[in-house]
Amino acid sequence: NSKGWDITDPVTLAEVTEERARFDAPHQWRAGAGSKTRAVVNPARPMEIVGEVSEASTAAVGKAVDAAVKAQPGWEKTPVATRAAALLRAADLYEEDAVEFFALCAREAGKVLADGVAEVREAADFLRYYAGQAAEVERHTTARGVIACISPWNFPLAIFTGQIAAALVTGNTVVAKPAEQTPLIAARAVELLHEAGIPKDVLQLLPGDGPSVGGPLTADPRIAGVCFTGSTDVARLIERQIAETADPDAMLIAETGGLNAMIVDSTALPEQAVRDIVASAFQSAGQRCSALRVLYVQKDVEAKVLEMLTGAMQALRLGDPALISTDVGPVIDDEARDNLTGYCADMEKKGRLVARLDTPSEGRFVAPHIFRVEGIGEMEREMFGPILHVATFAADNIDKVISDINAKGYGLTFGLHTRIEVRVQHIVDGIHAGNIYVNRNQIGAVVGSQPFGGEGLSGTGPKAGGPSYLRRFRKGEVTALAPAAGD
Ligand code: NAD
Repeated sequence: NSKGWDITDPVTLAEVTEERARFDAPHQWRAGAGSKTRAVVNPARPMEIVGEVSEASTAAVGKAVDAAVKAQPGWEKTPVATRAAALLRAADLYEEDAVEFFALCAREAGKVLADGVAEVREAADFLRYYAGQAAEVERHTTARGVIACISPWNFPLAIFTGQIAAALVTGNTVVAKPAEQTPLIAARAVELLHEAGIPKDVLQLLPGDGPSVGGPLTADPRIAGVCFTGSTDVARLIERQIAETADPDAMLIAETGGLNAMIVDSTALPEQAVRDIVASAFQSAGQRCSALRVLYVQKDVEAKVLEMLTGAMQALRLGDPALISTDVGPVIDDEARDNLTGYCADMEKKGRLVARLDTPSEGRFVAPHIFRVEGIGEMEREMFGPILHVATFAADNIDKVISDINAKGYGLTFGLHTRIEVRVQHIVDGIHAGNIYVNRNQIGAVVGSQPFGGEGLSGTGPKAGGPSYLRRFRKGEVTALAPAAGD
C-alpha cells in the first residue's frame, strides 16, 4: 500500500476483515419483548435458525398506543431541527452498521448482497431527505398525532425506515408493525433510531402478524393515520377498518401491488431492452412491487427478443443470497414458494412454458420462468415471484394494448422500449401508471429524484421520496404550501 493506495486509511484492513467475519458469523438475533416466541429461519436454508422474535400480544397494542398518545405533544414541541438531527444521526448509524444489515437482509429476508446494499442506501437516503425537508413543512401546519406504520417484508429496511422517518420528523409519534417475516431487521433499525435520539415512547415497535397486531392497531380509534405498504387486499381491509373506527380526518397512505407491463416495439435496441427485462422481472427473485410481469413484444421482433431473453435468463445463478456470485435468491416463505410453484405447474400443464431454469430442491427457491399469454387480461392477480409473461402485438394494435393494460385497474410501473419519439408521447400519455420508464430499467425509485408511488389499485399517493410526501403527515393549512414541483 505504499503506491498511493493507502488501505490503512480511513478503514484498516483489520477492520474490513472483522466486518467480513461479522457478516459470516453464525448470528442469533433477537427481537421483541412479547410473550409468543417464534424462531426466524433462513429462507435459503430453512433448517437454519437465524434468530428469535417475541411477538406482541393484542393487549400490548393498546398499551403502545397509550404511550404514543402521551408522548406526542412533547415530541411535537421538540424543535424540528432536533427531530431532523436525530434522523441524520440515524442515517450515519445505519451506514456504520451496514455489514450487519447486509447479513440480516441475506439471512432473514433472503436478499442477495446487491439488494442488501441498496436497502441500506435507500434507508439512509430517506432519513436524510425527509430530515432536509422537515423545516419547510413545519412552518404551515400541525402534526397529526399517532401514526401506525405497517410495512412489507420485501423492503424490510428501506420502506420500514422511510415510513417511520416521515412520520417522526413531522412531529408525530409512531407505532410500527413490521412484516411478520422480517422482525429482526426492523428491531435492529429501531435500536439504531433510539440510539440516534428518538425517545422510546415516540417510536415503538410491535412485531407480530396482521390479524393479532396490525388489525387491532389500525382499528384503535386514537390512531391519527396509517402509513401502509403491502398488498392491495390488505390495504382494502385497512381502509374499511379506518372508515369504521377512526376519526373521519384520519390519514391513509397505502402503497400497494401492481400488474406491471412493458411494451417493446420493433425499433427498440434489443440488448438494452433484454437487459432491462431480465433485471426487472427476475432481480430480487421478482419480489418487487415494481417488477415487470407482462411483456408485450412486437410480433416481428418476438423471435429475436425471446431468444436473447432466454439466453440471458440461463446465465442467472440461483443460490445462497449471502454469496456475492448469486443473482437470484430464495422467495420469502413456504406459502410464497407453494403458491408460485403451483401456478408455474399449472401454466406448464396448459402448454404455456417458453423457458425456465431448474428449481433447487432444497430451500425456498422458485426458478425464473417465462410463460406465453394472450395478454394482461388473462392475469388474475399479482404473482410475486420471478415469473414473466410474454404477449405479442401488431403495430396497428397498440391502442388495444394500452387499454388492456389500463383496464386491469392497477397503475404502479410501466416500461417502454422504442426509438420512435411520437410513439413515446402517445403511449406515455395513454398509460395510467405512477412510474413510467422509457428505454430504462423498470425498477423502483431514487429518493429525491425519482419518487415512487402508484395510481388506481396500486396506491393512494403521494409518492414516497417526493417533495409533497411529508405534508400528508401534517394536518391544517396544507393548501397554504407552494405547490411542489415534480411530484
Ligand atoms: P401484505 O399485504 O401481506 O402485508 C403487509 C403488512 O400488512 C404486513 O406487515 C402484514 O403483517 C400487515 N397486515 C396483514 N394483515 C393486516 C391487517 N388485517 N391489518 C393490518 N395489517 C395487516 O404484503 P407483503 O406480502 O408483506 O408484501 C408484498 C406486497 O407488497 C406485494 O403486493 C407488493 O406489490 C406490495 N408492495 C408495494 C410497494 C409499493 O411501493 N407500492 C412496495 C413494496 C411492496
